[in-house]
Amino acid sequence: MFLIFGPPGAGKGTQAEILAQKYNLKKFSMGDVLREEISAGSSIGRMVEEHIKNGALVPDELIFEIVEDFLLANLNTDILFDGFPRNLNQALELERILAQHNLKLSLAIELSLPEDEIIRRLSGRTYCSVCGTLYNEITNPPQKTGVCDRCGGKLLKRPDDDVAVIRNRLKVYNEETRPLAEYYKSLGIHRMVSAMGDKDLVFKRIVEVIDGCFK
Ligand code: AMP
Repeated sequence: MFLIFGPPGAGKGTQAEILAQKYNLKKFSMGDVLREEISAGSSIGRMVEEHIKNGALVPDELIFEIVEDFLLANLNTDILFDGFPRNLNQALELERILAQHNLKLSLAIELSLPEDEIIRRLSGRTYCSVCGTLYNEITNPPQKTGVCDRCGGKLLKRPDDDVAVIRNRLKVYNEETRPLAEYYKSLGIHRMVSAMGDKDLVFKRIVEVIDGCFK
């Protein structure tokens, strides 16, 4: 059971995808789940839409409902959490739910990236409107601009990758999510990995850290 966190644009989602494949983990990506709820027009989707559009965090109570449902359906599975927890309250709740089932986290990987690089990268970020694959014109470009390598779908920009919203997401990250590093350090399970460089280089660094921990 481990988790990956980091500022927007650090490549959490992309790395979580390939890490889950390599280590045979079930990936739980909170941002993806929330976006799916919005696309489906569900009642949760309607409640979270405005928060996401503004780059704010979705209220913890809603997040806990989603996590609890997911965990109950996946109790015997090794999970990689991506984008959850996002604040200390969520981290404590995750510990509590896992402990109820005699489970605990073994690793919290923090991706680090300087702020100017974050803004540069987010401006290049796209995703496939059909299969959801993530791309970045700078660090992880598709073979043909605007077209998904995997399914040929059209690539779009996320509405919350707008510059004003990015600034707010960064502020929220610095104030609410970054303090998780101290918390996980106190539990002895925190590892920091630089997210500079392309997808393959960052993946290699993370794999070294994971393999070093579970040798
Ligand atoms: P992400 O795809 O991880 O960048 O998440 C996109 C947006 O979804 C965030 O900017 C938040 O508005 C919302 N979100 C994702 N995960 C959480 C969470 N654990 N708690 C609250 N809001 C979240």
